[in-house]
Amino acid sequence: MAETETSSPEETEAVAGELAVELRTGDVVTVSGELGSGKTTFVRGACRALGVSAPVTSPTFTIGHRYEGTLPVSHLDLYRFTGLSQAEWGDLEPYFDDGVAFVEWPEAGAGVLPAPRYRVHMRHSGRDRRSITIERADTRV
Ligand code: ADP
Ligand code: MG
Repeated sequence: MAETETSSPEETEAVAGELAVELRTGDVVTVSGELGSGKTTFVRGACRALGVSAPVTSPTFTIGHRYEGTLPVSHLDLYRFTGLSQAEWGDLEPYFDDGVAFVEWPEAGAGVLPAPRYRVHMRHSGRDRRSITIERADTRV
């Protein structure tokens, strides 16, 4: 488990970029933390490092976004969900088919989403400061 603190969105993007180079097809990364803690900023940084040039914005009002980088990248946000029905999981499943997937607000998908390779936790720690904890699963499944 690694914990780091950043002082700007750019620094958070850079931390995400370092994680991104470790990712392989099939990897899921959950990104937890309160509103404004920098989850989408983190995903944006990871996407840039994965060669995504399209704008990376919050998918809060859609289920998810799909980007093309050096591999397909999915970006999901489960903010509006309290749990996942089978039908809802059916809509989400294609996002996990290939490439890597980032999931904001993953709590609703606990036990239903594929096991994450990394769990990222973000916290406010002062105006533009954010604490980022990155937890890695023991094995790649
Ligand atoms: P979330 O997805 O968790 O709601 P966002 O990434 O959408 O958060 O928003 C984070 C906001 O905080 C952005 O406006 C960003 O510019 C700002 N911010 C300030 N400092 C940081 C930092 N160190 N890391 C990430 N975002 C930061
Ligand atoms: Mg967000």
